[in-house]
Amino acid sequence: MIQRIENSLSLKFPKKDKKFLVLGIECTAHTFGVGVVNHGKILANVRDMYKPVKGGIIPMESAEHHRDVAEIVYREAFEKAGVSKNEIKAIAVSNAPGLAPCLIAGLEFAKKKALELNVPLVPVNHCIAHLEIGQSVGARDSVLLYASGANTQIIAFAAGKYRVFGETLDSGIGNFIDTFARHVGIAFPGGPEIEKKAKNAKTFIELPYSIKGMDVSFSGMLTKLKKLYDDGYKLEDLSYSLQETAFAMLVEAAERALAHTEKNELVLGGGVACNKRLQEMCKIMCEERGAQFYTLPNDLLVDNAAMIAYTGEIMFNAGIMEKNIEKVDIKPRERTDDVVVEWR
Ligand code: AMP
Ligand code: MG
Repeated sequence: MIQRIENSLSLKFPKKDKKFLVLGIECTAHTFGVGVVNHGKILANVRDMYKPVKGGIIPMESAEHHRDVAEIVYREAFEKAGVSKNEIKAIAVSNAPGLAPCLIAGLEFAKKKALELNVPLVPVNHCIAHLEIGQSVGARDSVLLYASGANTQIIAFAAGKYRVFGETLDSGIGNFIDTFARHVGIAFPGGPEIEKKAKNAKTFIELPYSIKGMDVSFSGMLTKLKKLYDDGYKLEDLSYSLQETAFAMLVEAAERALAHTEKNELVLGGGVACNKRLQEMCKIMCEERGAQFYTLPNDLLVDNAAMIAYTGEIMFNAGIMEKNIEKVDIKPRERTDDVVVEWR
C-alpha cells in the first residue's frame, strides 16, 4: 500500500524551497539512469545503456549491467546537478513495467540509497512517466503516442485513470525495427541506422498495413520485409517503406485517440520518437486537425531517469510515497490502467 499523506506536503516543503529535490532511478530494460529534479526543473539526467554484443537484450545481462554502473551513474548525477545528498527528499524508482531482473537490480539500488539518505521511495510506472514528462515542454492534458522499444501504446488520462486507447498486438515498434535491422546485419539499436538508410531511398514498396481500431501489429510487415530483403530488394527502399507504413499506422491510431478523447494535444514519446520522420508525420496530422504537437529533446524521449524523477516529484507533492521501503516491490507486468492515480 502506498501511503497517502493527507496534509499538503507543500506546507512541509514550501514550493520556494530550493533544497526540495527528488532523485529518480530508471532501470526497466536496457538503460540504467539517475536523474535529479527540483520543482520540475531537470538538474541531471545521466544514463548508461546496456548494449548486447550480439542479438537482442538478455535480461540477466542487462541487470548485471545495471549493478555494474549504478554507483558511477549515481555519483555522476550528483556532480551534474551540483547538489549534495542531504538535499534529496525522496527517491523515485521505475518499479513497473519491465524486465524483472532489471527491475530487481534497480529497486535494490533504490532501496539501498533510500536507507542511506533516510528518504521515502516513490514507485513510478515507466509508461506514465513518458507521458508526464510532456508537461516539461508545456503539454497539459495530452494524448501520448508512446513509441519505444518494448512498448507501443496510445495513452491518455480519462475518467480518473491513464487509459490505453490503442496498442501493439505483437511487438513494440522499436523491437520490430531492431529485429528487421538485425536481419540485415545492423546491430542494436537499429532504429537510427534504418532512419539514415531511409533518406537514400528511391522507391516506395507496398507493405502490410495492419491496424484494427486503434491497435496495430507489425509481425506481418516484419515477415514481408525480411523476405523482400532476402529477394534482393534495396535496404534503403525497404527502410523508407517500413517507416512510411509503420509510422502512418501509429499516426492514424493517435489521430483516432485524439478524436475519441476530444483532447487537442499530442505528445510523442519513447525512443522511436527520436525519428525525425515520425515527428514530422505527427506534426502534420496535428496541424491538420488544429491540435498542439509536443515532442521532447532526445535525452527525454529515450528511457531516462529525469522523467522518473519528474513524475516522482509530482506524486510526492500529492503525498504519494512509501516510507516503509521494504514494502515496495517490482511490478513487471503492471499495465498503465492498473495504476491508481491520486495525483491529478
Ligand atoms: P526506448 O526503449 O524508449 O529507450 O527506445 C529504444 C528504441 O528506440 C530502440 O528500439 C531504437 O532502435 C529506437 N530508436 C532510437 N532512435 C531511433 C530513430 N531515430 N528511429 C527509429 N527508432 C529509433
Ligand atoms: Mg520507455
